[in-house]
Amino acid sequence: MNIAILGAGISGLSAAYRLVQLAPDATIRVFDRLNRYGGVLETLNQDGFQIELSADNFITTIPSGVQLCKELGLGEQLIQTNPLVRRTYVVRRGRLYLLPDGFLMMAPTKLWPMAITPILSPFGKLRAGLELFIPACRDDHDESMANFVRRRLGREVFERLVEPLVSGVYAADMEKLSVLATLPRFREMERNYGSLIRAMQKQLAANRTAHLAEQSGARYSMFVTLRKGLSSLCDTLAAKLQPNTLQTGWEVIKIGKTTEQQWVLETKSSGSPPAFATSHGKSEIFDAVIFAVPVHESSRLLKDSVPELAGKLAKIKHEGTAIATFAFNSDQIKQQFHGMGFVVPKTEQSPILAGSFSSLKYEHRAPKGKFLIRIFAGGNRTPELAELPEDQLKPLLLTEMQKILKISGEPLFTVISHWPQTMPQYHVGHRELVQEIESLTSSDPTLALAGNAFHGVGIPNCIQSGFQAAEKLLSSKKSNS
Ligand SMILES: Cc1cc2nc3c(=O)[nH]c(=O)nc-3n(C[C@H](O)[C@H](O)[C@H](O)COP(=O)(O)OP(=O)(O)OC[C@H]3O[C@@H](n4cnc5c(N)ncnc54)[C@H](O)[C@@H]3O)c2cc1C
Repeated sequence: MNIAILGAGISGLSAAYRLVQLAPDATIRVFDRLNRYGGVLETLNQDGFQIELSADNFITTIPSGVQLCKELGLGEQLIQTNPLVRRTYVVRRGRLYLLPDGFLMMAPTKLWPMAITPILSPFGKLRAGLELFIPACRDDHDESMANFVRRRLGREVFERLVEPLVSGVYAADMEKLSVLATLPRFREMERNYGSLIRAMQKQLAANRTAHLAEQSGARYSMFVTLRKGLSSLCDTLAAKLQPNTLQTGWEVIKIGKTTEQQWVLETKSSGSPPAFATSHGKSEIFDAVIFAVPVHESSRLLKDSVPELAGKLAKIKHEGTAIATFAFNSDQIKQQFHGMGFVVPKTEQSPILAGSFSSLKYEHRAPKGKFLIRIFAGGNRTPELAELPEDQLKPLLLTEMQKILKISGEPLFTVISHWPQTMPQYHVGHRELVQEIESLTSSDPTLALAGNAFHGVGIPNCIQSGFQAAEKLLSSKKSNS
């Protein structure tokens, strides 16, 4: 088989790696418009600092990430978050407050820290406590995250705790984000225990979540990264591919089908020509194609050949973010932080979505006596910031960060990375839309989709999607022959 993969991010690289394992005789070409592989994953080493330009770790509860690292011989490189600071701050009226211990994304594990937190008013606390008595929704209808949290825990918990946490991770509008597609485990808790608080308490009593009760924000103990940075995962995957497989610097500009149901790809070079390019043109024919580019791009490319599928893919909207990474001397930081970072509620009207104390989260990321901070901006709240030029974005975020964190002086250096249109939005009804997309692709044995737009945006989800796309093509081929 002669297979093209569009996109050399972690999804496309995983698909290529799986194909090499399952069909060593297949000819595989992975095209990427950038002159490098890895997609949004990129680790930068500068002046002894290790800077992740986008994702900086991944969850272990979806096993494909850790499994792949172990399979590639990177198991010993996996490191956990610093156990001493597995908490999150939230900004309220310009000041930092620790989230109540045990408050994980959308529900409290422990009641006492909720009762004494200064973040909520007495009325907000009372309303949150009434969650125990609110009738449970036990059917399968979808709803927005905002509706779910307000319904169960009230408006204050939503605005002051959950909205900033979830917006920071998904860059999303909570009024549109689907609870069933994004965090279905909370609806399962409601269905199984009648209440989120009761579910968390029962899990705590059964000793299943004792390790989480001292954390807040994300479940930090369940995240890992690679000591040499996440780019090392992409480097190791790329090294497993045959020479000439990776065609970086080649953008796929057009795609069509021949009468024999093969695919014709037209590519445009942004670097040196690939070894297989013929002198009379840059069209190649492939038996099958895996689309591992963002779905707005897949939709554009499939518009003429598979218009119905293209139309459904176009319904998945995207948001983007920008990240400013600032390096400081530790003595410029005037307070001791007990958390890994902070989130900012929409009501604060700040240009900052969230911040991560990168070198506290993973200590190897800064030399001794130095401190590394990543500041996130953009998302659905302020989409224009995701693309704001560096000379305007840097002073805006630096001034605001210095105000919140009380940091004095100029940073040693700043690195800005822009990620426009990279975060798919799982709006209400997303699961049904994905089912419709999959029923269209299942009938075509020459086409498979991978990436972050369908069953989860995290790195392990993307790896799994790449593996499944490779397996789909090969199983279709087997059943046809
Ligand atoms: C800022 C940010 C922070 C994140 N943080 C985390 C985190 O901490 N943990 C976590 O698990 N996940 C995180 N994620 C999510 C995760 O990193 C991504 O979902 C994942 O890396 C996407 O991989 P991908 O291969 O599907 O897509 P991409 O990495 O976007 O790769 C797609 C590739 O397709 C190429 N391409 C596009 N069009 C064409 C074309 N026409 N022809 C050829 N090539 C083309 C692009 O150049 C790109 O290289 C984060 C994402 C972002 C943006």
